[in-house]
This record gives sequence, structure tokens and C-alpha cells, in this order.
Amino acid sequence: MIDLKQNEVWFVTGSQHLYGPKVLEQVAEHSREMAGFLGRSTQIPVNIVFKPVLTTPEAIRDLCLEANSSKNCIGLITWMHTFSPAKMWIGGLTQLKKPFLHLHTQYNREIPWSEIDMNFMNLNQAAHGDREFGFIGSRLRLNRKVVVGYWKDEEVQASIGAWTRAASAWADAQGGKIARFGDNMRDVAVTEGDKVEAQIRLGYDVYGFGVGDLVKVVNQASDAEINQLVQQYLEEYDVAAVLKPGGERNTSLREGARIEIGMRNFLAAGNFKAFTTTFEDLHGLAQLPGLAVQRLMRDGYGFGAEGDWKTSALVRAMKVMGAGTKGGVSFMEDYTYHFSDSGDKVLGAHMLEICESIAASKPRLEILPLSIGGKADPVRLIFDSNTGPAIGASIMDMGQRFRMVANVVDVIPTDAPLPKLPVARALWLPRPNLKTAAAAWIYAGGAHHTSFSYSVTAEHLQDFADMAGIEFLLIDENTRLADFRDKLRWNDLYYHLSKGI
Ligand code: MN
Repeated sequence: MIDLKQNEVWFVTGSQHLYGPKVLEQVAEHSREMAGFLGRSTQIPVNIVFKPVLTTPEAIRDLCLEANSSKNCIGLITWMHTFSPAKMWIGGLTQLKKPFLHLHTQYNREIPWSEIDMNFMNLNQAAHGDREFGFIGSRLRLNRKVVVGYWKDEEVQASIGAWTRAASAWADAQGGKIARFGDNMRDVAVTEGDKVEAQIRLGYDVYGFGVGDLVKVVNQASDAEINQLVQQYLEEYDVAAVLKPGGERNTSLREGARIEIGMRNFLAAGNFKAFTTTFEDLHGLAQLPGLAVQRLMRDGYGFGAEGDWKTSALVRAMKVMGAGTKGGVSFMEDYTYHFSDSGDKVLGAHMLEICESIAASKPRLEILPLSIGGKADPVRLIFDSNTGPAIGASIMDMGQRFRMVANVVDVIPTDAPLPKLPVARALWLPRPNLKTAAAAWIYAGGAHHTSFSYSVTAEHLQDFADMAGIEFLLIDENTRLADFRDKLRWNDLYYHLSKGI
């Protein structure tokens, strides 16, 4: 469902005619080599496309306009091998609508001490040319990522790779469609927000549907389709005996399969990338979709429970950012605490809908009561999650702006088995610790829902937030509460002023 290889990042080198055609040929040759190298890097999941060296305002403007209208181009990497006077870039950069990364590097790793002359200096002067280019980016107040270092270094490739993943998610969100089945869980504040502003700022479009619209499609699932899907369940999961064919609750499993088929067909027909449900509004649906949601998320769909479209869109964005990497991305909720001398822990879970992409082992497929909402028992996958570093992120509508807050955590094994807990879960130690992390999160107004990932990092999220021009707050091992609270106050001022009238 998510294929990053179809995305192109254009490698754009700036220069000028002052140095004569021979130098320009060399600049082009070097740039082509660098674009080729980065394109082959295992850390960069998109296509890197070499573009001819730019030496005039007209060529720069044409390239920026071409990038804007190219469907596959998700952004530019810019680099000034020589000096490229930046007034030449104003016409193009003021038109550019795609994200760009400024790669501040040099073709040669080292100074050839015994050979260096003025010809070498004139060719290898990114140290000089990139500063001129950087000035105009700052003068124009453009959001961009600056990556510094030798282009063959692993760290530089990783940083470019992270940005290309964020740019892929950004491109995916533009015009992306989200389906809401039912409205918000009643009276919840943080899952609300301004959908018009979200579309202006983040690019995606939220569509509302009555649950009856979905039920109609669910009811069209044929017995043959249901048989086939139940067979898949039996192959993929540890299925409880009562749910198996001939078991006393097999009808419930078949109902779960019917819901999955219906949701899949509905989402595919409307070209939706993400969706929400709400347990308060199941009109005509036999069960709250659990298994179906878990499997759709696994396949790349974004999801938010209780009508939470912002988290659904963020789960989708993080699915794109993490595509093809190990680790997984899931909808998540901070559920309950374990205060302990060995570190205060958070048990994360949801009523049902944790994505199996974060499962540590083969999930069990079971049927149990929902314990809330008074509906029929839903089928669901139960598992413990992977362990290791992870990140939880959420986006809130603060009234005047969107704010993204993220917390880096370490997922650990549970202290003991949880034989009676009927949902998938993850246990983690927040960084730097629960006291600081939860206080910072609460001062920031962070939601109880997050998009949770082992493969997406703070760097991806920062890059994505920069592309959107939204606030990004990170809580990690370096967070000090007093500084964090100051930042909240300063950001209020900054975003108020920067927006203008
Ligand atoms: Mn919830």
C-alpha cells in the first residue's frame, strides 16, 4: 500500500557562469556522482534524481515551478558546489511549494595540502557558497532542513534519509482522504479540532459518514469472501478454540471477518488512507471493529478511535515515514501506571485497536466482552509488544495553531504475565522519567491518544512538523521541566506573532 520508491527527490546544484564552462562541467560531473551515490544509499528510500546545474535566475525559477507541478517530486536537495549568488534564487524559492533540504557538504573530503591552488579553491567552495544560499533561505523565512557533513558519511545519509521519509509522509498527506465513521466520542475535547484549518495547514481532507453507510457495505460481504478470510485468520494467528469452525463462537469470528471485508471495500472504493470509529456509535454494526482495525492498520491505514481524526492522520503519516523498516507503528493510548522504585512505568493499550505491526510474537485471536458500551463481544488480537526505544506523538489543536508533542520511551517486558488483560499492550519507561515526561506532556496539553512507533524517530517528526510549519515539542532524556515550561510560553508568543493578522 505504501511504496516510497515512486517518490523522487531532485538533487539540485547551484553555481554561476563566472568560472567558465570547464568548471561548470566538473560541477555537473561531481553532482551527478553524488546524486547517484545518495540514490543507491540503503538509508535513503526514495529515488534521487540528478538535475542539471543551475546558473541563472530563469533556470532556477523554471526548476522550482517544474517541481511544484511534478506529481512524483516530493522535494529538493539543494547544494552550492561553487558560489551561486543568492539573489538568483529569490524568484524560484518564493515560488517553491515543495519541501527542501539544504545539504551543506563538499565534493572533496580533505584538503590536498601539497596540491591546493586557487582553481581548487574556486571549485570547492561550498563553505562559502552555501552560506550565501543559507542567508536567502533565512531572509525569506523558509522552513528547510540543513544537513552538514561529508556526503558519504553514514550520519549524513541517515539524516537525508529521515527527511525523505518525512517528505514522503508530507506528500502523502496532501489531498489525502480520511473517513470518519460516526462523530467524536461525546464531550471529549482533545479529539476535536478545526478540520478546515487542518486541511489548509496539513493538507488532508476529513470526510464524515453515518455508520449506516459502512453497514451497507459490510452487509454486502459474501459467504465465500468470509470463508476465505476466516481461513487466513486460522493461518496467521493463534485462534481461540471457540472461534474456530465448529466452535460455539464461530459466528462472532465470521461477523468480525464480515466487518473487515466491508471496511476494506469501503476504504478502497473511496481511496481513503485513514479512518476513525467510535464505540458510542455502532448503529447496525454487530461489534466494535477490533480485529478489522488492527489488520487495516497493519496494512498501512491510519486509525484513530473515538473519532480522533488528528491521531488517525498522524498514524498514517508515521506509517509512511516508517515504511519498509522494522518496528511498526500503532495507534496507542496511555492507559494505566505502575509506580515503582525500579522506575515509574506506563502501560499503553486501547479498548482493542493496537496494530499487530508492533507485536513481539504471533498474536492470539480471541473473543471477550468489551466491558464498556454494552455491545456484542468483539473479536480482537492480543499480544505483548516489541521492546526497545520507541516514540509516542500526538497533535493537538491549540486554538490558534496545531502543536505536535512527542515523548521518547523505552519499551520493556512486563513485570509478570497479564493473563486476564484482554487487549494488546506495551509497557514503557518514559524518558527522562515519568515525573518529568508526564508533567511536560500535561503542561503541553498532550492528548491521551498517540501514534506510537519503534521505527519513526524524533528527527522524522521534527522534519515533518517543519514542513507543515507547526509547533514541535520533544520530551526526551534531555528534557528539563523548567526549560520546557519556558519554551511553552515563548512558543505561544512566537506563533502568535509569526502568524500575523
Ligand atoms: Mn481512546
